[in-house]
Amino acid sequence: MADAPRKIAVLGSTGSIGTNALRVIAASGGALEVAAISAHSQLDLLVAQATEFAPRWVVATDSKAAEKFDWSKLPKGTELLIGCDELNRVVAQPEIDMVLAAIVGRAGLESTWAALENKKTVALANKESLVMAGSLVMQLARKQGAQILPVDSEHSAIFQALQAGQPTEVERIVLTASGGPFRQLNQNQLKQVTVAEALEHPVWDMGPKITVDSATMMNKALEIIEARWLFDVPSERIDVSIHPQSVVHSLVEFVDGSVIAQMSPPDMRLPIQHALYYPQRVAGVAERVDWGTSFSLEFSPPDPERYPALELGHQCAREGGTTGTVLNAANEAAVGAFLAGELHFTEIVPACRSVLQSHNFDSDPTLESLVELDRWAREEVSHWVFA
Ligand code: NAD
Ligand code: MG
Repeated sequence: MADAPRKIAVLGSTGSIGTNALRVIAASGGALEVAAISAHSQLDLLVAQATEFAPRWVVATDSKAAEKFDWSKLPKGTELLIGCDELNRVVAQPEIDMVLAAIVGRAGLESTWAALENKKTVALANKESLVMAGSLVMQLARKQGAQILPVDSEHSAIFQALQAGQPTEVERIVLTASGGPFRQLNQNQLKQVTVAEALEHPVWDMGPKITVDSATMMNKALEIIEARWLFDVPSERIDVSIHPQSVVHSLVEFVDGSVIAQMSPPDMRLPIQHALYYPQRVAGVAERVDWGTSFSLEFSPPDPERYPALELGHQCAREGGTTGTVLNAANEAAVGAFLAGELHFTEIVPACRSVLQSHNFDSDPTLESLVELDRWAREEVSHWVFA
């Protein structure tokens, strides 16, 4: 890496990805620097992070919470900015080299967009911005000459495996999936799943939304759509394989039948580090495969009846247009309702399918129309919740 440190804006710094990213940066010996951090809630943690990293900017996006909060412990030299719009202003600052988009859900779209518009390299954890507006986001990145580096472990693996051949030589992409915590449950047991059970993931320690998405397999559906846009690969060339150990993070099969995989113990710090240092590789903080012990890796095709979310992912990847926005918004609203105890676990996917089916498809939407449709789809889900 060049002598000057790479200055990073960590958006969503208090989340699971954000806190892991700060550990990667802390261990970088000055090669990486925190220029800005942001959070919606958990403002105590935000101040503690500001104290540790002395960023130039701190953004508190929830204005109401921020105005009530006592900021007296914020270090001198760190500027406090309040409100979502400030994210867009911060990512435009010339001294920021890279933006880590680690806000969860639709709330991450505008800042991802603003970063690309300002020609910043985006390390993208926020898959929802590609699910919602993949075609427009990729178009903007191309137009501005801004690079998007995947942080999602599967997409980081694919990104790395793709370097083994030419785009025209790719036969298929295989996304691996752990199968989630309910792999062994029957349909009746699935209906009884509680919020606490859904929030217990067997392999990964993640934020609540993506943990529920992993349990419904909607996360893999969103990842199919993410891969479709990020790598410009059609839906029919994207497969999913259940791989409970989560050591192979995804694979690319080339036309000659060679399959290139990326492997490492499940630890998000590695794909985060890969993106933050790209194109360099460095010895970092992530765990390594222990070749001194014996272990086995299993792969099996997913049962489409057990995981109906996957077909929705394929449908949206195939049809494009407005479908990703509708699926994403319906899913966010349904997951929110489930977490609030207002929807059964097994109703999340049917609610999404129903909203997707009833929307007015448009093959060529604008960003404004997608934002409007996002609102509509959330409202539609409210008809599903318990009275
Ligand atoms: P999280 O819930 O742990 O953290 C989310 C962060 O976003 C927090 O800092 C929070 O303050 C902020 N935030 C929440 N709502 C906001 C709003 N309305 N406006 C602005 N900021 C807001 O989530 P996470 O698990 O870290 O996931 C972040 C993103 O990374 C998601 O898009 C997720 O799909 C993706 N991702 C996460 C993992 C993982 O291991 N956690 C893996 C792959 C991809
Ligand atoms: Mg993933």
